[in-house]
Amino acid sequence: MIGSLLLILQALLYFAVMATLFRARRTMGMGVFVCALGVMHFLETYLAAVFFIELPFGLISPGSTVMFAGKLAMILMLYIREDAETVRQPIYGLLMGNFLMVALAGVLRFYTPMELPGGVRPDLTLLDQLGALMIWGTTLLFIDSIAIILLYERLERWVGRAMFPRAALSLIVILSFDQLGFFAGLHLMTGTPAAALLGGWMAKMAAAILYAIFISAYLHLVERHDDGTVHADGQRLSDIFAKLTYRHRYEALLRDSGIDALTGVLNRSQFETSAQASVARALSNRRPISLAIVDVDHFKQINDRHGHVTGDDVLRQIAQALRASVRANDRIFRYGGEEFVVLSEGMNHETALIQAERLRAAVPAAFTGSFALAPTVSIGLATAPGDGSDLMDLIRHADRHLYQAKHDGRNRVVGNNAPDGEQAG
Ligand code: GH3
Ligand code: MG
Ligand code: MG
Repeated sequence: MIGSLLLILQALLYFAVMATLFRARRTMGMGVFVCALGVMHFLETYLAAVFFIELPFGLISPGSTVMFAGKLAMILMLYIREDAETVRQPIYGLLMGNFLMVALAGVLRFYTPMELPGGVRPDLTLLDQLGALMIWGTTLLFIDSIAIILLYERLERWVGRAMFPRAALSLIVILSFDQLGFFAGLHLMTGTPAAALLGGWMAKMAAAILYAIFISAYLHLVERHDDGTVHADGQRLSDIFAKLTYRHRYEALLRDSGIDALTGVLNRSQFETSAQASVARALSNRRPISLAIVDVDHFKQINDRHGHVTGDDVLRQIAQALRASVRANDRIFRYGGEEFVVLSEGMNHETALIQAERLRAAVPAAFTGSFALAPTVSIGLATAPGDGSDLMDLIRHADRHLYQAKHDGRNRVVGNNAPDGEQAG
């Protein structure tokens, strides 16, 4: 009884201080709140490994119950009041900071620490256990944090907009998941008895409800008038996920680096900035250069029949098949939605026709077995200097040949020596 009361008191103290720092974020900055949140982590992991108290329903760890559940509640509250861009900062900070701490602790293990006065030897097993436990706990926390936000959003559809049931349910589900996962690790590493699984779970459930009450009370009573509406209105779950996982930044980074995020080949802007120079360089070296436009046949139907996700996957695999079939110094660009350009410096038209034929055949071959009708491509080919002396000429020529290939029934290559022996250009 007294044990339970003490826990409730701890949770109340934890929440009161953290909520005060949270409240002060407009005047003192978010860093104060976030630092206080992060600094708990060591004590929390330490307690989870060594400190249990006995309650009527089993063994429980105050570290997991008060501080870990509390931290997840804080992350949820931060998301509810701010947004995905803000909450991902502590989520990633905790992940990276804890990994760094474990790495530094690992380096310390190369020392032999001296004996302390009185013959006390530092317990290095604990350090090792904590290291492994910290990695496991940190990884779980990362998954928990992202999952709880997505779940909170999804619950709006199932239980409506009221904050308390959504917060309580998200905490209950995620803390249950975490309890199972963390206990499995704890049991393997420190031999924690099974009594701690159920006891810990019940304590976490109580914490989930308590913190949900605290959060909704705080947000209703103290921050009610800050902004009336829920910020995430109308955001799709996938957008929230993209923000939480920095996906937008990653894609921007790829764009800047000239790589198409979907297929991994060079992107259109890379084509704009470098293709003209390649043509000029080849011509000034008196070498030919060939350009092939590869367009997926009936791609709209693939999207319509199998959905855009499969469509994207097909594009990825086609890019892969093209990459595997060109020479090492040929370059592949994603020119449009389902159009690729292959630029081959030093390759004459005859050789380019052979290579294009190889590309054409490689595409359906990459899909054997996965579709009733394997995706195919049509290819239009042009070579400088024969078809022109700058990039625009080459594209115009290749495009005309591509059109011809489509017109002739698709899944074929058209260059200056069309298969029927006539000049197609
Ligand atoms: P064809 O070229 O054989 O004449 O037929 P098509 O169906 O391929 O013709 P079209 O060029 O009109 O269609 C291209 C389609 O590609 C339309 C667009 O919805 C789809 N698309 C463009 N970019 C992407 C993408 O990144 N992912 C997916 N899944 N679809 C895309
Ligand atoms: Mg097209
Ligand atoms: Mg097409």
